[in-house]
Amino acid sequence: MTDKKIVIIGGGISGLATAYSLEEIARKKGESISITLFEKNNRIGGNILTERTDGFLIEGGPDCFLSEKPWAIQLCERLGMGESLLRTNDEYRKTYILLNGHLHELPEGVILMIPTEIFPLLKSNLISLSGKIRMGMELFIPKKESSADESLSQFVRRRLGQEALDKIAAPLVAGVHAEDPDTMSVKSRFPRFVQMEEEYGSLIKGMIAKRREMRRAGSKGNKPKYTMFMTLKDGLSEMPATIVQNLKMTKILTNREVAGVDKRDIFKISLKNGEVLDADTVVFATPSYETASLLTGINDSISALLNKIPYASTATVSLAFKKESISNPMNGFGFLVPRQEKRRITGATWVSRKFSYRSPDDSVLIRCFIGGSHNEKLVFLNDKDMIEMVKGELRDIMGITSEPLLTRIYRWEKAMPQYTIGHEERLSILDKKLSEYPGMFLTGSSYRGSGISECIKDGQLTAEFVLKYLNL
Ligand SMILES: Cc1cc2nc3c(=O)[nH]c(=O)nc-3n(C[C@H](O)[C@H](O)[C@H](O)COP(=O)(O)OP(=O)(O)OC[C@H]3O[C@@H](n4cnc5c(N)ncnc54)[C@H](O)[C@@H]3O)c2cc1C
Repeated sequence: MTDKKIVIIGGGISGLATAYSLEEIARKKGESISITLFEKNNRIGGNILTERTDGFLIEGGPDCFLSEKPWAIQLCERLGMGESLLRTNDEYRKTYILLNGHLHELPEGVILMIPTEIFPLLKSNLISLSGKIRMGMELFIPKKESSADESLSQFVRRRLGQEALDKIAAPLVAGVHAEDPDTMSVKSRFPRFVQMEEEYGSLIKGMIAKRREMRRAGSKGNKPKYTMFMTLKDGLSEMPATIVQNLKMTKILTNREVAGVDKRDIFKISLKNGEVLDADTVVFATPSYETASLLTGINDSISALLNKIPYASTATVSLAFKKESISNPMNGFGFLVPRQEKRRITGATWVSRKFSYRSPDDSVLIRCFIGGSHNEKLVFLNDKDMIEMVKGELRDIMGITSEPLLTRIYRWEKAMPQYTIGHEERLSILDKKLSEYPGMFLTGSSYRGSGISECIKDGQLTAEFVLKYLNL
């Protein structure tokens, strides 16, 4: 057993995945390690929060992970949770976009924002004829010469045109990342698209090649094992809970807020309650602005860089209704709302359509998204006004006039990191500065991907770096 002390700050999925990977690798090497994980809240999981009430399963934060990014699924398998992985109900695999007050189906074959099938796009009444022609011209637009970063708006406008940006790309990133496409870095958020342009000269060609590859892989078995979005039958909180159950060399201390970190020969971790603890290595799995404040005593320029990563606040509002009281067929996973529609929600998921086991058979569950970089003020409405606002939006958009059976509001203040243009360059400067402080590691959604799966991947990499640093 090594006598080196490892401290992890933050008990969200990033901190937990780091702890689990540290143990996994140490066990393989026959090493025994000692980890202490501090979490300021009285529960672990960070943004992952599942509530069960009256037969409903409500996700307050994330509700799924992308199977294309395999690290979450792989971790679930390793944790013995393979049986708990839940597919989407693909008979409802449709997304709608609000246009002039009406919901229009996103044409079949549009993946993220790239059309891969011609006929559904031609038939669609979401995009005008000139918009469709402009999207099709993507095939012939030469690739960008320079490798400089650009905003998502610049990228989509250049390749697919303004209409694809306004009606598909912008609502998608507002709904998923709560981000502003005018400032969002395409290189950091959608590196795959940048690579596709580079490799195939066209996003459409790249996406079609990828689909063909997936079909080929799928045709070997019958239906692919995973759908594009996956979740857990008992809710995503099952994942942090199972990690904790499987940790054997980690002491998890909740209700312990770290107040500062100092570096002498070793690290000194000061807690808000006055305790001070020594550590040989520290992993900060906290939001970047929190890490910035913890590091002020060590290096102000690192803190200044970390503070350059802006954050947006959002809220999710879940409402349950009696099925019979809703005439809207809800034939899909939900809808997104472009900014031009000037509504006060950015989208909604028809939860009980998207996944099974989310509501009793005679009820439906709808989850709406509020806030993001353009409408942050709405996140802080009081509960009553917030519910009235959401009910009003659902009445106008979906024709729902009945009273909900239950409502739940989850506010997420400064929870969505914004990867703005130049994010990647700032990270490389940060890495250089951090190399002057061996033993100090940063992980989490602020840096190299903010989906659950990417946080897990980054936690795993961080664990490898920590053990290398400790010569284990
Ligand atoms: C509303 C919403 C919906 C989302 N939907 C999806 C989705 O569907 N799919 C997806 O893949 N991702 C989604 N995400 C993103 C994903 O949930 C997060 O990126 C991910 O959970 C972040 O994990 P983390 O561990 O890096 O950070 P966090 O979850 O923020 O964890 C950080 C932890 O550090 C603790 N902490 C902070 N300061 C201190 C301190 N000083 N001392 C001790 N502890 C401290 C915090 O209390 C927290 O528990 C969503 C996020 C939100 C907010």
